Amino acid sequence: MKSHVKAVVIGGGVVGCSVLYHLARAGWTDIMLIERSELTSGSSWHAAGGFHTLNGDPNVAKLQAYTVQLYKELEELSGQSCSLHLTGGVMLADTPERMDFLRLAHAKGRYLGMDTELITPSEAKAMFPLMDETHFVGAMWDPVEGHLDPSGTTIAYSKAAKKLGAEIVLRNPVKELTQGSDGIWNVVTEQGTVKAEHVVNCGGLWAREIGRMVGLELPVLAMEHMYLLTEPMPEVEAFNRQTGREMVGVLDFKGEIYTRQERNGILLGTYEKACKPWSPVETPWDFGHELLAPDLDRIAPSLELGFKHFPGIANAGIKQVINGPFTFAPDGNPLVGPVQGLTNFWCACGVMAGFSQGGGVGLSLSNWMVNGDPGFDVWGMDVARFGEWASLRYTNAKVRENYSRRFSIRFPNEELPAARPAQTTPLYDTMLANNAVMGDSWGLETPLWFAPKGTEPKDIVSFRRSNDFGPIGEEARAVRTSVGVTEIANFAKYEVTGTGCEAFLNRLMTNRMPKEGRLVLTPMLNQFGRLIGDFTIAHAGNDRFMIWGSSAAAKYHMRWFEKHLPKDGSVRIHRFDQTLVGLSIAGPKAQALLQKLADVDVSTKAFRFMDFREMAVGGAPCMVNRITYTGDLGYEIWMQPAYQRLVYHAIKQAGEEFGLVDFGMRALLSMRLEKNFPTWFRELRPIYGPFEGAMDRFVKMDKNDFVGRDAAAKELEAGPKLRRVSFVVDALDADVMGDEPIWAKTATDYGTVEKPHGYGAPRFDEKGRETRVSAADEGASSIRGIVDGDWRVVGWVTSGGYAHFVEKSMAQGYVPAALAGDESEGLFEIEILGQRRPARITTEPPFDPSGERMRN
Ligand SMILES: Cc1cc2nc3c(=O)[nH]c(=O)nc-3n(C[C@H](O)[C@H](O)[C@H](O)COP(=O)(O)OP(=O)(O)OC[C@H]3O[C@@H](n4cnc5c(N)ncnc54)[C@H](O)[C@@H]3O)c2cc1C
Repeated sequence: MKSHVKAVVIGGGVVGCSVLYHLARAGWTDIMLIERSELTSGSSWHAAGGFHTLNGDPNVAKLQAYTVQLYKELEELSGQSCSLHLTGGVMLADTPERMDFLRLAHAKGRYLGMDTELITPSEAKAMFPLMDETHFVGAMWDPVEGHLDPSGTTIAYSKAAKKLGAEIVLRNPVKELTQGSDGIWNVVTEQGTVKAEHVVNCGGLWAREIGRMVGLELPVLAMEHMYLLTEPMPEVEAFNRQTGREMVGVLDFKGEIYTRQERNGILLGTYEKACKPWSPVETPWDFGHELLAPDLDRIAPSLELGFKHFPGIANAGIKQVINGPFTFAPDGNPLVGPVQGLTNFWCACGVMAGFSQGGGVGLSLSNWMVNGDPGFDVWGMDVARFGEWASLRYTNAKVRENYSRRFSIRFPNEELPAARPAQTTPLYDTMLANNAVMGDSWGLETPLWFAPKGTEPKDIVSFRRSNDFGPIGEEARAVRTSVGVTEIANFAKYEVTGTGCEAFLNRLMTNRMPKEGRLVLTPMLNQFGRLIGDFTIAHAGNDRFMIWGSSAAAKYHMRWFEKHLPKDGSVRIHRFDQTLVGLSIAGPKAQALLQKLADVDVSTKAFRFMDFREMAVGGAPCMVNRITYTGDLGYEIWMQPAYQRLVYHAIKQAGEEFGLVDFGMRALLSMRLEKNFPTWFRELRPIYGPFEGAMDRFVKMDKNDFVGRDAAAKELEAGPKLRRVSFVVDALDADVMGDEPIWAKTATDYGTVEKPHGYGAPRFDEKGRETRVSAADEGASSIRGIVDGDWRVVGWVTSGGYAHFVEKSMAQGYVPAALAGDESEGLFEIEILGQRRPARITTEPPFDPSGERMRN
């Protein structure tokens, strides 16, 4: 065993081996994987080995597609078979809502390069004859699904890594991790200490315990999971004989069941409601290549439903029941990346679908370690997406919720109840008394909308307009015609101080820093000129700046800020979280309202648009920004939590004469739509450049050098390929939700949309025989599915909804820059729930295009 290496990867499951392979492939060969026991000694060896590309987050879906594509290459490189079975799979919908969900997923696939197809239950049955099609209303076919040998695949990664020069040390538990003052890690193992610049936690079932070695409580929990294997089934053998092919994989949303052929029998797994965490506090170190005792009673309700939906399986003999643990993060996606507050400590854990995601996790993490950037938009699996509130108990409740609804639909207006409330502001009870429907905003209870008195404050979940539509409209109209108040505690807030703070911010941000008492809006770029932040910054005087940004990105941004802090201690940065809370008042009467509460002159002359002041509001010390996300006259008022009730009640009382209303996040988001304002993580993400994101006026190329400037200059010189635009959509009863494809009537191939790969759904005759082997046999071109007559998919929606005050359904999204200024009618269509609806670009915001309302 070497004593010094560049990086130590802890854990030889599929994820650790993939990370090792990808690091070696990226050129870091002085690396070592240390495994406690033998390779695959955690959850990897007893996995069902299924893989698929579909994921709710399109960026994670892309990485899953990469994983699946990698296997062939891996087999060639390593000389080790993964026993790949690319059977394809069907997802079965039992209700119209689930069919809507599949339509959405299918539509998304159009620009992700996925070649899914919507099919009938009978077509699904032709591929999996053991089902009773009468329980279903439709299905989606995905050709890029299948299964493999989990151990063989893990070994294949390890062999490929070794061929590239990586070292693997087995039967050697890592006992302790310490870091010297030079930043070098001491990896203390049973066989001695290894010094490493970087440490990667790929501990799988023990990832939490490895985290604890460095003082972290990672939000990871293992769950027991069961699948059963049947005896050989004559029906399966007959199908194989008749069709010459394997039965496809099947996912049954209603039953939370997956099933597929395994040898000449069937494998069936369940995500049961009565799910059970395994080792909820501490994973035993002596747990080896073991299985847990099966508990068929626990999965009996799922099996009952399964046998109803798949009667062909009901009579088969059960050969074996596998019960094994594997880990989940609270939202079911992996935890990947560098940990904020530590140097060179990386995570690749909480990977619940190692055989769908392992390759993408390894690729993005190795990019991140070697090049300083993951190279993909990995927000959906970034370890920074959970705050300190994601404690052991929070994780336990959320993981159980997530497990038990693994295949359930998450509606766009659906808030999940587990582990809530996690954090509240002092106004929580007041908001409940006001009949607020609350939502979870990065662990904080936040009012979404206010239900009319006498009605239950509850969302009716739907893909279409729902019971919040009327009340949100009332809130938005009241703000636009008079004044409203809303809580804005769910922003991230930071204070940057010290003699070097202005230079520090000028180096990180694309805009010039404001003069004292003023605000600016500014994006932040990474070294590749991609958008990694969007902030409001105030110059508070005396080497002090205040920053507001996206709360979900608080740790993500802190990690970046800390990485760039000067070493001389001339800059300090503090993240407030809920030790600073806020209220926003907005609408034409907002100034008159503030004047009643302030002891200083707040007229437009004295307190201009984009001014910042520290002043008492209702007698409480506050910081006030003259800006709001409504795009109206208005203010953001920030205070310590101890003052929030005082300020809120003062606002309510003083606002009575103006007919002040409470409004929630959804009205706020509706109002920003009619101003064409973007949102972080929807319109603005690390896959876009600042000019693509239409942030031109906030990027000052002639100021000092800033991170990402050279890359931004290149984007500017070449002209952005894509451009963010706003649309007015001729919608019916459903508005866009995000990720819908944008079609244009154009003969030009803009080349911005990935072309689908793989094959179309095989067709079968009435005897179940395949009538077409692949789309290629039909001469289908690689752009099948994205061109339809004169129309082609040219982009995608990032977000949207109903803009209540201007009474228009609106969407924002990205299209080729050449089309971005074309406001012609009849040029665009946006696919909403499978229906293409006419849409028109609106370059000017429909509400107050001149911005007079904000400024006066
Ligand atoms: C019943 C079942 C069915 C499943 N089906 C599927 C499926 O169909 N498809 C799919 O994609 N996934 C499936 N999974 C999930 C899959 O198994 C996991 O996603 C995957 O195994 C995670 O791999 P890992 O490398 O992160 O963790 P693990 O496999 O747990 O590996 C972690 C490794 O780290 C080592 N380690 C831990 N601590 C130390 C230490 N201190 N020092 C040295 N080494 C250490 C362990 O010994 C272990 O070998 C299933 C899981 C189960 C239980």
